Amino acid sequence: MSSLSEQTVRTAIADHPDPETGRPIDSMGQIHKIEIDGDRATVTLGLSSHSAPIAEEVTAALESKITAAAPGSQIVFDVVDHPRPPARVGQIGLRVKSVIAVGSGKGGVGKSTVAASIALSLRRMGSKVGLMDADVYGPSIPHLLGLSGRPSITADKRIEPIRLGDMPVMSMGFLVEPDQAVIWRGPMLHGSINQFLSETDWGELDYLIIDMPPGTGDVALTLSQALPLAGAVVVCTPQAVALLDAVKAISMFRKVNIPLAGMVENMNGFVCPDCGKTYDIFGSGGARAKAEELNVPFLGGLPIDITLRIAGDEGRLAEVIESNETARAPLDAVSKALVRNLARSAAASPPKVSLPTL
Ligand code: ADP
Repeated sequence: MSSLSEQTVRTAIADHPDPETGRPIDSMGQIHKIEIDGDRATVTLGLSSHSAPIAEEVTAALESKITAAAPGSQIVFDVVDHPRPPARVGQIGLRVKSVIAVGSGKGGVGKSTVAASIALSLRRMGSKVGLMDADVYGPSIPHLLGLSGRPSITADKRIEPIRLGDMPVMSMGFLVEPDQAVIWRGPMLHGSINQFLSETDWGELDYLIIDMPPGTGDVALTLSQALPLAGAVVVCTPQAVALLDAVKAISMFRKVNIPLAGMVENMNGFVCPDCGKTYDIFGSGGARAKAEELNVPFLGGLPIDITLRIAGDEGRLAEVIESNETARAPLDAVSKALVRNLARSAAASPPKVSLPTL
């Protein structure tokens, strides 16, 4: 017979940090119910949609705390939505919990593919996500997702974004003809990024993923002035020359005080579909070593996947991520690592302001 009781369960997990706020889950009213039936406890746990991608990790951690306190017990979790609307961030009135910029030192490393994939993967795992293409020099998000059309202006003068299902997407690619070059001057760039952020009808978001232009710091500076960013993800390929550019991107984000949420090594190996052998075409592991050296979290590697390239070219990235588990698995791992790291930062410094405990 284990020493299982409602009190044992509550005491064992009460102080566990809520992944979104970093505050003890019991103090946030997230332990909705504990039912005991002999050696078996059923815990109804509320998690916000911001934490949904790592729900299984949270329940696994709670389970080991409970079984340490009551050895031999069997724990079942019923995870339910714990509604917690986002507050407005910055001066601009955007309602979002975590703004993530995805950048790279140079073009062609898969930054847009990774930005769109992280957005799609977080959404698939239960979060409310928006995607903003700030790569004004080469806006490729509409193409990757097969989206077209012109954002309309609503009666209350907001920009109605183009939506992929329920995911709002905004891109300069919706506003200019595909083969038109846009010459950007600093103030224009600054103005249009701010307009995208503040005048688009994003709704209430857990995550706004921003695809940054490669290399330059102008957009990063504009963003850092407009709102607090949860972090930047730097995408690079494994070759030494590509890593040099990634180091520059990291130093650029540091200069404008955007915290580094992590590095992603894209195209780190190719699994031959004919023989199953892995070829490290561009090398492998360089980004992990560089991330360690620079004290930046490493979020994971993505292999060269022909289905991803074809999907991107044909505007079917969302479809393929939805239906192809092999293509999706490494992207999901990167997205989970990102959310896990945000949870760790929240636990290390929970917000001081009071939060609504709905
Ligand atoms: P960037 O935004 O860095 O310029 P893109 O995301 O546009 O790069 O990607 C450049 C090209 O590489 C696209 O054709 C894309 O489909 C392809 N690509 C990106 N990542 C992968 C991958 N992991 N496997 C296969 N092709 C990829």
